[in-house]
Amino acid sequence: MAPHIHYTKLFINNEWVDSKSGKTFDTYNPHDGSVIAKVSEGDKEDIDLAVAAAKKAFARNSEWRLMDPSERGKILYRFADLVEKEANYLAQLESYNNGMVLHMNTMLMTGAPDEIRYTASLADKIEGNTIPSDGDTFCYTLKQPVGVCGLILPWNVPILMFLKKVTTALAAGCTTVVKPAEQTPLTALYLASLLQKAGVPPGVVNVVNGYGETAGVALTHHPDVAKISFTGSLEVGKLIQQAAGANNLKRITLELGGKSPLVIMNDADLAAAIPYAAFGVFTHQGQICIAASRLYVQSGIYDQFVKGAVEMAKNYKIGNPFDADTQHGPQIDEGMMKKVLGYIEKGKQEGAKLLVGGKQSGSKGYYIEPTVFADVQDDMTIAKEEIFGPVQSILKFETLEEVIDRANATNYGLAAGIFTTNVNTAAIQFSKNVEAGIVWVNTYMKMCTQAPFGGFKESGIGREGGQRCVDEYLEVKTVTMAVPKKISN
Ligand code: NAP
Ligand code: MG
Repeated sequence: MAPHIHYTKLFINNEWVDSKSGKTFDTYNPHDGSVIAKVSEGDKEDIDLAVAAAKKAFARNSEWRLMDPSERGKILYRFADLVEKEANYLAQLESYNNGMVLHMNTMLMTGAPDEIRYTASLADKIEGNTIPSDGDTFCYTLKQPVGVCGLILPWNVPILMFLKKVTTALAAGCTTVVKPAEQTPLTALYLASLLQKAGVPPGVVNVVNGYGETAGVALTHHPDVAKISFTGSLEVGKLIQQAAGANNLKRITLELGGKSPLVIMNDADLAAAIPYAAFGVFTHQGQICIAASRLYVQSGIYDQFVKGAVEMAKNYKIGNPFDADTQHGPQIDEGMMKKVLGYIEKGKQEGAKLLVGGKQSGSKGYYIEPTVFADVQDDMTIAKEEIFGPVQSILKFETLEEVIDRANATNYGLAAGIFTTNVNTAAIQFSKNVEAGIVWVNTYMKMCTQAPFGGFKESGIGREGGQRCVDEYLEVKTVTMAVPKKISN
């Protein structure tokens, strides 16, 4: 049964309001393309109102700025409890709007409350240093919230991105304006209602749905916004960095996807490696920034591996994300489906060997068959560009040194993985030399709440998660006082 839609308006200053223009846009179910709801369409005027509310909430003597840090933490703990209580509903709402298989969303929502609690625990552990300064001085540092933060979300894992960005900003003491992706406006609104219930004061969290070109641009160019945290495409990431440079030098955190290499050595445990390689690239129909989209297989096991990979892909059960046995749901929308099918055509034209899949599945919704290409070469488009779809590209290699160089020959650097039983040398040498922010050994896509997440090179700037995640939302202030070393009586 379709989940009930509670909220479709903008959330500004803890109130549900229509957009100033009165405009709305439709949001869809990718399973069949049907309209789920009409959602208020925010624009520059609405962003201005939300930023003004966030600025007021950040003012010197505001309730939020005067709040004890442990109290900020307690609000987030209460929020975690509410998310835990509503986890099933949130998973359903997300799957209904973004097509992720429901049991996968349910699993993500099982872990989400503890991720919130981890971040909540950091709220009263933001410490500066006392500095052993030279001369007649006493010197220390304060870490202070950067100010109003614009948080721009993607559509692939909207709840997780909302939670990661918003809870970290709040733990640091910032205030926020969230701009969800146009395809997935619903879960952010529901989460905002839970934050209000948890006790977040007015203006601290605002959610303005709308389009990137209007609401997104207004946020990234707003002079009262001190920081942008963004997850999405490299193209838009670069626009955000340009906008930051062109006006008030906003601080930025960018998470921009990748072209992540997964390496299978001759000595790997294939019974584990083959399913992990499939999981790494087909999970959520390939719409994951850390997807293992370049699969390098060593020559001694290449043929055997390819056979196993084809068997895996063939047996994926495609269907409605709400059906219990579905493993593979739809792409997010028609545009993305066509883009992915375009990449598949390019792969065929450029001479990669299509072994399974390659077509749209069914005629309603935006389904694509899990697709496997073998004999892919490094210079083919499907080996270079982020496809963001269910396309496994298999490449052959001979030596570890060679594969490290080939793995690194990309502008991206988000994740990487290796399967080998030679953990002493191959795994350690690969992990040390691969240019990626996250490396997995004999596993893939295993996420640790306590660990930092982010990329090298054009995969982004900054890190989310881990103990130092709050630093992305803080400024360091050095205070130096004239204090003579010698006590004068
Ligand atoms: P996108 O355009 O980068 O969208 C991400 C977010 O940025 C959305 O909220 C979007 O608004 C907003 N946005 C778009 N243009 C903007 C601008 N000029 N200024 C400020 N904000 C702006 O990504 P997409 O179009 O949804 O997907 C395209 C490609 O991005 C995918 O094929 C994939 O390669 C990559 N992607 C990566 C991730 C990741 O996890 N790293 C996630 C999603 C997509 P709208 O909602 O109006 O678009
Ligand atoms: Mg977009």
